[in-house]
Amino acid sequence: MDGYKVLIGLEMHCEISETNSKVFSSAENSYKEVPNSNIRPLDMGFPGTLPRVNKKAVEMALKASMILNCKQPEYMYFERKNYYYPDMPKNYQITQETKPIPVGIYGSLTFDYKDEPRTVRINNIHLEEDAASQDHYANFSTIDYNRAGVPLLELVTEPDLRSADEAVAFLETMRSIYQYAGISEADSRKGQIRCDVNVSIMDENLDDTDPKNWGTKVEIKNVNSFGGVRDAINYEIERQVELKETGKYDEMEQQTRRWDEDTFTTKFMRSKVDAIDYRYFVEPNIPKYKISKEWLEKIRESIPELANERKEKYMNEFGLSEYDSKVIVKDKSISDFYEDTLKLGADPKSSANWLTSVILGYLNKNEIEIKDLFLTPKMLVDLMDMVKEGKISSKQSKEVLNKVLEDKKEPKEIVKKLGVTQISDDKTIRDIVVKVLDEHPDLIEDHRKGKNTFDFFVGQVMKATRGQANPSLTADIIREEIDKR
Ligand code: ADP
Ligand code: MG
Repeated sequence: MDGYKVLIGLEMHCEISETNSKVFSSAENSYKEVPNSNIRPLDMGFPGTLPRVNKKAVEMALKASMILNCKQPEYMYFERKNYYYPDMPKNYQITQETKPIPVGIYGSLTFDYKDEPRTVRINNIHLEEDAASQDHYANFSTIDYNRAGVPLLELVTEPDLRSADEAVAFLETMRSIYQYAGISEADSRKGQIRCDVNVSIMDENLDDTDPKNWGTKVEIKNVNSFGGVRDAINYEIERQVELKETGKYDEMEQQTRRWDEDTFTTKFMRSKVDAIDYRYFVEPNIPKYKISKEWLEKIRESIPELANERKEKYMNEFGLSEYDSKVIVKDKSISDFYEDTLKLGADPKSSANWLTSVILGYLNKNEIEIKDLFLTPKMLVDLMDMVKEGKISSKQSKEVLNKVLEDKKEPKEIVKKLGVTQISDDKTIRDIVVKVLDEHPDLIEDHRKGKNTFDFFVGQVMKATRGQANPSLTADIIREEIDKR
């Protein structure tokens, strides 16, 4: 954006999917049910119901707080955010404001953007309950309370992001963290990630570390895909630049807008003067409780290897290229598959080759995920073993793998059925080679004169064995037998 700096701050909401029950009620934390079938009286705000805090959800929230280098609280509090809307029958959401102290404050996250490290300050991360989901039609709306009470983490960044692509790179890193840390599937297609995006622009020559120089912030509510985040930011930048160029920017009020997926534009919702007063107060039905050092220590120890650490390990310990390492860790289920093959004794490099070349290609082509494959880490290891033991050639192994994927049968069974086994027996191959050479004395002469007839000999042996002769052994024997003559 010529002449301007862009400031972006994100409020990223991610549902915690890895608890058994909701954050304050005993209803299952699950999406699969028929609408409005997974609810307890508390989720419906019935009188006399009381919340109980889900310890696992708090643990996961604290874990996220630690990964983001935040400061953890000594005491846990919750607060009521009061508002009237059907998606929250209690008429308030149980959440945490920055005061007293949420699960984490003042952290930072460093992530890769275009191969350069970028650091974003985290203002806070807090734990709250999700609201019901609604669908709006021409003449009516539907509401599903199954989502009401699902644990939700809200992460608020400082306005340290400088472009739409950088914001998306940040979100992708966060998604990976939630997945690797076992906090959430973090699947935006399931509505598990939603963002409020804050955008402003300022003069390029001014100091962007001084809030006095920042432009007027526009908040875009509830963007529910990474593509949407990118498009909404780019549209909003363009809109604000246009206001600057036409001299109307200074009149622009701080406002909330929404992203309209049909028109690819942001639409005005309300200005700051209409801001809702949520009348926060400490939730009286949940006593504040102390968070012990021992508990925090336990949680810290439970943080598993994250994508970046796995990437470093692949490069430094397994000798993979940076590119391949990145490709494998990008999706946790692929990285897990890879690590499972290693646990079964696979060679790190060949296993990585299979994954990055053949298997990922198949997944992309068919738009499916690795968990949808019939292939298991064990089957891939079996296949690699057959190549190593010379039972099948590497060319044959690719065919076998394709059959495994298509026919959903074990590699060993496919090999038996296709009759593809590799002939690595010296005598069998030598007999064929001798016969081929006997039949073509003229071509042996040509070979000696420097003409390439060697491939012809190899081809004849392959033909005679229906492609099953071990290629390198065949080549060796042909060379030996020619030299003998
Ligand atoms: P509010 O008081 O309106 O909630 P905050 O200061 O708490 O605003 O910030 C909310 C979000 O807006 C944060 O993600 C923050 O980084 C972002 N933000 C604040 N000021 C700006 C700005 N000038 N431009 C872009 N984003 C901003
Ligand atoms: Mg919130």
